[in-house]
Amino acid sequence: MGEENSQQHYIGIDVGGTNSVYAVVDQDGNLLQQRKEKTRPERGADGILGELAAQIREWTTADPRIGSVGIGLPAVLDAEHGIARECVNLGWYNVDVIHSLKIGDLGLPVYLENDVRCVALAEKRYGAAASSRNAICLALGTGVGAGIFIEGKLLRGASGGAGEAGHIVVVPFGGERCACGGTGCLETVASAGAVVRQAEQALRHALAAGEPTLLREPLSGRAVSEAAAAGDRIAREVLAEAGRFLGVGLVTLINLFEPECVVIGGGMALAGEPLLAPAREIVRTRAMAYVANRVKIVPAQLGDLAGVIGAATLGMPEVSESRSSNR
Ligand SMILES: [Zn+2]
Repeated sequence: MGEENSQQHYIGIDVGGTNSVYAVVDQDGNLLQQRKEKTRPERGADGILGELAAQIREWTTADPRIGSVGIGLPAVLDAEHGIARECVNLGWYNVDVIHSLKIGDLGLPVYLENDVRCVALAEKRYGAAASSRNAICLALGTGVGAGIFIEGKLLRGASGGAGEAGHIVVVPFGGERCACGGTGCLETVASAGAVVRQAEQALRHALAAGEPTLLREPLSGRAVSEAAAAGDRIAREVLAEAGRFLGVGLVTLINLFEPECVVIGGGMALAGEPLLAPAREIVRTRAMAYVANRVKIVPAQLGDLAGVIGAATLGMPEVSESRSSNR
């Protein structure tokens, strides 16, 4: 690592469907600036990108050491050309992000990456997977996605679509319909939405049977996790079921890639052991023994900030060398 690189600063922006997080990060992952705003998707791409551009200008003017901008989006991307092909949460289709920012005069390289991969990049560099060359970071949120590292490199696939672990089929017949058009995908049984659906059903049964429970409508992934942490039997069973399906999905990933470690992040990771312990048990009993005995399955460490830190790393030399940027 050269002296020059170690002193550079990097802007990261994590644009989510609800909130957007902005940060300036140094080479060691320290947050030098940080700001969180409501995304308000109803403003449209121009409104949102205008706000991004204003913040980029402000920070770049104040800090001459800023060397790049990385943007994480919940989208299918053409990262090479800086285009968000499909971004359902924001209602963006074929948005030319880089050109719409209109910051070409700043002379900064701008990188785009899918939000799940940004989280994975941060956990790999500074978080739970930092000591592993082969690692899988699985994000369990509204959807389920993965960043897969092989020999230290993030797997992107032929056109940048690799890592769709949420669509591994874990219920081969009679499973629920998935957003991808298939049925029985991991996302239909282990995402936050799936946990909420299962908890709603379990709550109805509990009420009908007069069984006590801490669960109350309206339910969320967080509410189910909190009830389980407080010892609620029904919430724990819902998470255990999701965890077992998570384990089934992990068996496939672990057998294929033999990672040293699997990091579980995203909103559902807050559930902790009631979700992870059943997943580990399935992996221990169902994955190839020599792989299963060694792999660690651990919660993410960087929480809500993983996305923005990962976005900032897109411009760091070791990450950006493997891809092209747009000015
Ligand atoms: Zn699917």
